[in-house]
Amino acid sequence: QAKHLGTHGVSLHDPSMIDQRRADAQLGEELADAVANDELTVLYQPLVDLADGRPLGVEALVRWEHPYLGTVSPTRFIPIAERTGVIGAIGMAVLETACRQLVAWDAGLYVSVNLSPRQLSEPSLVQEVLAVLTRTGMDPANLVLEITESALVDDRTAIDMLAAFRSHGIRIAVDDFGTGYSSLHYLTRLPIDILKIDRSFVAELNGTPEGAGIADAILRLSQALHLTTVAEGIETTAQAAELRELGCVIGQGYLFAKPLPADEVLSVLLPSSPS
Ligand code: C2E
Ligand code: MG
Ligand code: MG
Ligand code: MG
Repeated sequence: QAKHLGTHGVSLHDPSMIDQRRADAQLGEELADAVANDELTVLYQPLVDLADGRPLGVEALVRWEHPYLGTVSPTRFIPIAERTGVIGAIGMAVLETACRQLVAWDAGLYVSVNLSPRQLSEPSLVQEVLAVLTRTGMDPANLVLEITESALVDDRTAIDMLAAFRSHGIRIAVDDFGTGYSSLHYLTRLPIDILKIDRSFVAELNGTPEGAGIADAILRLSQALHLTTVAEGIETTAQAAELRELGCVIGQGYLFAKPLPADEVLSVLLPSSPS
């Protein structure tokens, strides 16, 4: 049935594929200037204590305010930025913005910033991150770097880099945990502090042992390894309650707040504080 398959198993004659590639190439070119043109914005999503809803930190999530396409999602442009290499500049811009913001808030929060696998292959990354902390006056203890499991499998250089971050007091979180391919044995040897339970496992919670299976297993593993666990994508009070009962301490999701512009964060997080 498949005709004219290209080397990547994609039909060369599928017009939607060609349109997609053209659009990607176009976005890739525009993305190269997005940082300089100040088109990237950073939203902040609260990370809360599941016991009492108290905000502990925020995750920095980038958006691209494209001149005529409007807001472009990171799920659309981060993979392109990875391919073109501009992810390095984007990642550092997000980090610097987030650190400045956190220092300005001075609200006792920490900030969690996503790192792409490609950034971990840049030997100067640790020095660059430390330079941002110095420039912004940010305490390394208030920074968490999020990486995905797949970035770490069998990559000695990346693992050494994480160890270097930790030696400076920066914490490391494994994002979307449970969706990658790392073996459990391997996990015990990674220099990490936090596991983030992927939201697909939170979505399975339904009050039954079967529904809780994976989240429960990750929480027990996390406890055994003395790691902190964060549950992503919490949308209902029932999910929050079940996670709390399973022993999860920190939660993130639309139930608490969507990713917010910087100027809305304090009023949502700390309603009692003067605004
Ligand atoms: P992530 O790091 O796993 O971030 C969590 C994503 O889940 C965010 O999507 C957030 O808006 C979304 N989310 C949070 N709570 C809920 C919920 O209750 N329900 C649902 N359905 N979704 C929820 P977002 O902001 O679109 O970011 C998508 C991904 O893009 C991130 O996934 C991360 O992998 C990547 N990303 C975002 N910002 C950056 C960045 O600055 N650098 C890098 N390298 N990647 C980034
Ligand atoms: Mg993340
Ligand atoms: Mg995540
Ligand atoms: Mg995720």
